[in-house]
Amino acid sequence: SWSSSDSVISTDSSGEASEPGGPYRVVLLGASGVGKTAFASIFAGAADSMDSDDCELCGDEVCEKEIEVDGELATIMLLDTWDSEPDNDWTQERYMQTGDAYLLLYSITDRTSFLRASELRITLRRFRPAQHTPIILVGNKCDLVRRREVSVSEGRACAAVFDCKFIETSAAMQHNVWEAFHGIVRQLRLRRDSKEA
Ligand code: GDP
Repeated sequence: SWSSSDSVISTDSSGEASEPGGPYRVVLLGASGVGKTAFASIFAGAADSMDSDDCELCGDEVCEKEIEVDGELATIMLLDTWDSEPDNDWTQERYMQTGDAYLLLYSITDRTSFLRASELRITLRRFRPAQHTPIILVGNKCDLVRRREVSVSEGRACAAVFDCKFIETSAAMQHNVWEAFHGIVRQLRLRRDSKEA
């Protein structure tokens, strides 16, 4: 099922968002089970201005929609294909290179997923070396307080080392998920504005 998203991704060969308001390709990364699908369904579910025709763009792995952030519209194409072909290196490399911005998820209840997020951040830096690609490190499942294995300060420190933003979320409680998407849009706009200047 990679092919469905593949055709969408390759429409923009320049690697840059063509319009000022997007579409921006936002990629969900992270170990299996951290909540990527939950994030994607929150994003897809809150269809404010969408009628059913627009939902042709929404599949299992790709969803494109317009959201309003700070009074300005932005079109986000959210990609959640990371787990679909885990053994295909070529696909993962391509996937690493395909985003305008990345949400790098781990679960606060799973230290292994936190370490995996660090590895992914390093890999990402290898594929996107020169650019200031917006990345937010997302500690998901913060509702599961008694199962916490990764502290807030560890998450924040990791983000500082990797020079990216940090947020804790709960997809289950719908807490901070939209803040994460809005944060990505704000970073994309900052980058756009600094390029125009
Ligand atoms: P993915 O493999 O990264 O796509 O992870 P999923 O979105 O499929 O989530 C894996 C499991 O964790 C599912 O059972 C979700 O319901 C659950 N889950 C996802 N986010 C949260 C969260 O914020 N809190 C809790 N308690 N469970 C979550």
